[in-house]
Amino acid sequence: MSEQDAVGLTQTLLRFDTVNPPGQERACARHAGALLEQWGFRVDYHEYAEGRTSVIARSGGSASKPPLCLTGHIDTVALGTAAWTRDPFAGETDGDRLYGRGSSDMKAGVAAILLAARNLAGKLPGTPGVVLVFTAAEEGGCVGSQHLVRTQLLGKAGAMVVGEPTSNTPLVGHKGSLKFHAKFRGVSAHGSMPELGVNAIYKAAKAVSRLEGFDFGVKPHPVMGGPTMNVGTFEGGQGVNMVPDEASIGVDIRTVAGMDHRALLSRLKDLLGKEAELDVFSDMNAVWTEPGQEWVQRVFDISGKVLGARPTAKTATYNTDAGNLLKVYSGAPTVVLGPGEAQLAHQTDEYCSMARVRESVAIYEAIICDWCGL
Ligand SMILES: [Zn+2]
Repeated sequence: MSEQDAVGLTQTLLRFDTVNPPGQERACARHAGALLEQWGFRVDYHEYAEGRTSVIARSGGSASKPPLCLTGHIDTVALGTAAWTRDPFAGETDGDRLYGRGSSDMKAGVAAILLAARNLAGKLPGTPGVVLVFTAAEEGGCVGSQHLVRTQLLGKAGAMVVGEPTSNTPLVGHKGSLKFHAKFRGVSAHGSMPELGVNAIYKAAKAVSRLEGFDFGVKPHPVMGGPTMNVGTFEGGQGVNMVPDEASIGVDIRTVAGMDHRALLSRLKDLLGKEAELDVFSDMNAVWTEPGQEWVQRVFDISGKVLGARPTAKTATYNTDAGNLLKVYSGAPTVVLGPGEAQLAHQTDEYCSMARVRESVAIYEAIICDWCGL
């Protein structure tokens, strides 16, 4: 299988171990970048840490209309503890299935974006063109894109396709994410004389019970549903015979379109009290484009023709880099649309459908042609 074919290129990408942690996307990113340079793209790299490499590639560009962004991540999640029956890094196939860690999530999507871009490379100069953004460290907090938005490398984009696994059905957004740790301090003392100390666990526990009763005061979104909150970690104390002088909780909030994270955070700070020390480590707004938006309708037309049925407005259950990239590409209509199977993401014996990967090359090409007037 040639690397010039969607399946062959997915296999090549799968053979780079980009399991995150530790990530180490550099070799895979450089490989994609070298191909893009060969095809005439202008390529930039960004490393937010040693070996944590993102790639930004451009072709075309015009003063009258910004380019179309197609984006995907290079890293994958770990293999998990269960044994695989297939080699996760060999690109084994069986019938229509292509196995490997990151096949569905989302090296198939990256390969399809690359090949669609290659197929049109010769025609892009003089048109609005494309900007391709392949990120490091998406898994576990979209850290790579968080760093990218602080650079000048992203430029502009007028619309965005995120190639995460959707079985080639365009989705019009996903929930936002606000995650933080809240630390509470006390004074340590001997467990037999608790009156001499201040118990940090009691403070944290009271905060948790206030959070449990928290009312977002938000009407459910017609497609996304309501916001959610989960207290996922509770840590504190060094021994049963000591008054704990430190306790900390980890909170995961999923917001819906229209919610203001800053206002929400300020309400939560009031609720948790002045003593709580907050460390917000993920802050990405919900991604939502009105399904009736003109470009989204055209994407629905294009994918509907290939899929045989017109898509309806749905959103993804997972987060994507779009939450960060839209901080720069503000207001760009965005769809999540990629060849992988969402339910196989992060699974043991992850695979993708080879037919879908080829199908997605055709869909991406049609979306680029539509955007660039080809
Ligand atoms: Zn993904």
